[in-house]
Amino acid sequence: MIFIAHRSSVIANRLFWGFKMTHMIDQHNRKIDYLRLSITDKCNLRCIYCMPSGGLKLKPHEEILTYEEIELFANCAIEQGISKIRLTGGEPLIRRDVLDLIKGLTSIPGLTDISLTTNGILLADYADALVEAGLKRVNISVDSLDPDVFRRITRNGNLSRVISGLEKTLEVGLEPVKINVVVLRGVNEDIADFVKLTFDYPVHVRFIEYMPFSKEIGMEKSVSSAELQERISKLGELEQAASPYGAGPARYFKMKGSQGTIGFISPMSEHFCPKCNRLRLTADGRLRTCLFSDEEVDVRKAMRAENPKEKVKELIYQTLLTKPKNHSESRRRDFQRRMSQIGG
Ligand code: SAM
Repeated sequence: MIFIAHRSSVIANRLFWGFKMTHMIDQHNRKIDYLRLSITDKCNLRCIYCMPSGGLKLKPHEEILTYEEIELFANCAIEQGISKIRLTGGEPLIRRDVLDLIKGLTSIPGLTDISLTTNGILLADYADALVEAGLKRVNISVDSLDPDVFRRITRNGNLSRVISGLEKTLEVGLEPVKINVVVLRGVNEDIADFVKLTFDYPVHVRFIEYMPFSKEIGMEKSVSSAELQERISKLGELEQAASPYGAGPARYFKMKGSQGTIGFISPMSEHFCPKCNRLRLTADGRLRTCLFSDEEVDVRKAMRAENPKEKVKELIYQTLLTKPKNHSESRRRDFQRRMSQIGG
């Protein structure tokens, strides 16, 4: 058995009941086991806080990782200690043959959880096939349950499609279903509708603090978790609740008598860096260790060179060494990538 040396970043192999188990521990003693894979920078919505009004220049096709490359990267990461993968985008369900990718990923030994974050527009069409492909669960991003407000935020999205997607998701058992909501002051403050949703469906609504990644929508639009919790607690009796599976950094509560829960994710008011267990890979093959940093490492080049597996594994290791202890940049407005180009 090899012990994990805590003062440096290590990838340690352990023999446990005859199985080889690998862990990645970073310089700050955090276990890194979660990979967010963005598989496209394209989206079928244009959320006002995620994309600029003029749209974003998409990466040329040849710069986007192929499915073979994504699987190669996932294999390397899993061999080094990643056990959970989330597919994101852009909108992951608009990438052609996404089911083939999911099937490929689920067959990699060592992967214990594979999930997907989606805007839900195509979910009703895909839910059955996603289960068949081996996907475990989905998070659905929906920022208002008022069709007109939803249309304004998404720049013309159709809420009824998302609700059909949500119902279908519950029907096929892609659970626990989490609903991501970003509240913007003066835009979508209809939070009582989401509280009601937890009575109508067994879903986990998570309010995520808006992170101002650009100058277009400023910090004044961000509503803190504390304010939302106070407002929600005036609507009924809010009690602490157990976290659903794969809960990440959210704190959970529930309204007395509801089926679902209400969570708060507070990237602006309460940094969860000490618990951060993530790596991110962008659709164009850049490996990132922190959402709030422009630092990224080109792994696409290594994947397209000779002996890609060894090179990619070495890059993962080297990149792990650079994962910062904390982010200090949450007040910045001039990030090189918008959220749709990272995957959230
Ligand atoms: N298209 C998918 C979706 O809508 O969930 C996946 C990509 S989207 C970029 C992932 C998540 O990032 C969504 O839940 C979205 O609300 C969130 N997001 C985007 N921009 C954000 C921002 N500036 N602050 C907080 N969350 C943001």
